[in-house]
Amino acid sequence: MNPAHKLETVRHDWTIAEVEALLQTPMNDLLFRAQSVHRMFHDPNAVQVSTLLSIKTGACPEDCAYCPQSSRYDTGLEKERLMEVQAVIEKAKAAKAAGSDRFCMGAAWRSPREKDMPYVLAMVKGVKELGLETCMTLGMLDEQKADALAEAGLDYYNHNLDTSPEFYGNIITTRTYSDRLDTLSNVRNAGMKVCSGGILGMGETDKDRAGLLVQLANLPVHPDSVPINQLVKVAGTPLEKEDDLDPLDFVRTIAAARIMMPQSHVRLSAGREEMSEEMQAMCFFAGANSIFYGECLLTTPNPAANKDQALFRKLGINSEHKVTEAPKELDELLAQDKAGSELFYDASTSASQTH
Ligand code: SF4
Repeated sequence: MNPAHKLETVRHDWTIAEVEALLQTPMNDLLFRAQSVHRMFHDPNAVQVSTLLSIKTGACPEDCAYCPQSSRYDTGLEKERLMEVQAVIEKAKAAKAAGSDRFCMGAAWRSPREKDMPYVLAMVKGVKELGLETCMTLGMLDEQKADALAEAGLDYYNHNLDTSPEFYGNIITTRTYSDRLDTLSNVRNAGMKVCSGGILGMGETDKDRAGLLVQLANLPVHPDSVPINQLVKVAGTPLEKEDDLDPLDFVRTIAAARIMMPQSHVRLSAGREEMSEEMQAMCFFAGANSIFYGECLLTTPNPAANKDQALFRKLGINSEHKVTEAPKELDELLAQDKAGSELFYDASTSASQTH
């Protein structure tokens, strides 16, 4: 590509008005532009595949209004203690056999405690040794913890901005928007790749969706991964009765994210279980090129791995890391978990988003 063109396309000076206009562009024009940008930077028929495992579920002191893992809401979610290191590594092996190339580990914490760090660092090292990319989402990180994780070999850290700064107070009161930006900055400064996105369908306006995208795209470096979640309305959370999001507004937001952060992986995340194949296909056309694979997406249901493979086949999409084996091993392991081992838990029976 012409380097001048690349410079023109990768920008960090987006304005809300500009993005609002982008979101209102006629659909065909918006999709054409998103797909054109997508093809400049990515293989149009490749989708990156990650597996997400909840290494510590529930009892989180934060009050994120969408999240069943918050201890403030009665959602019937059983809290779990931190998984043992070896159990996590076994899960990672199964995910690798099922075709994942990145293994994400999530813990429902405000931030990791000192006493948790040795276990978490051992998990990073162990999963890394399997030849998988590693990602964690553990809540807020100070500089020291970010450095320790980077040193252990953590490739990615997920910390979402969730929504616009203006709407944020309606969703979370126990940490500020700038706390979130500080964590992203600590992660970036430690040399890890940033995974950060948000959740749509929480009652936000088009302007808020534009505001979220502007925050992400105007970071000093675009996040490597941008998860775009659709709210999973969980009974017992304050957002359980929120109106449904128009699926086309979701697709439009994916397209705008692709145009604004052309080099990033835009990830279809929570809420995919409720999306039709047609909607997912439209999201891929709009520039989404990453998904979570397998049944677990923290505590939300996620289309079973083989259902994803069937959709990939129909669409002629390849995993960026070619899947060669049927994901039987993963499904079997997940089925075993449902039998109730103390070390494992069924993370697919209720719902959550990532931090
Ligand atoms: S989203 Fe993360 S920080 Fe917020 S309540 Fe859930 S687990 Fe806690």
